[in-house]
Amino acid sequence: MTEFATVLHCIDGRFQLPVFHYLQERFGVPYIDVITEAGMVRHIASPGENPVKSATFESLRISIDRHDSAQVALVAHEDCAGNPKPREEQEKELRQGLKELERHFPDMERVALWCSLSGEVVEVG
Ligand SMILES: [Zn+2]
Repeated sequence: MTEFATVLHCIDGRFQLPVFHYLQERFGVPYIDVITEAGMVRHIASPGENPVKSATFESLRISIDRHDSAQVALVAHEDCAGNPKPREEQEKELRQGLKELERHFPDMERVALWCSLSGEVVEVG
């Protein structure tokens, strides 16, 4: 059983610990490899290639190859400076991002998360 899962997350420091603790429980692993970019979800949701998506997927492959990560979470959050859109639009991007992850990483367990300023974490399906 692997001890690592991976999160594709925003840079925003307010949301790191709530998501980290949620994923430890959700995925049942002690370690979460963290790949960040401001407004991460919009880059992953965008169809086709872009530099952030390519770099993120390269890091994710290292997490898979070297840490045996088999689970990945894509995160969006309230009051995002890098992706200043309403929750509804960011949830659409989360769903689109899940499809992109499924296309590139079909063997991984994939979840999308919304994190609010209160620290509440909910899954977006
Ligand atoms: Zn953000």
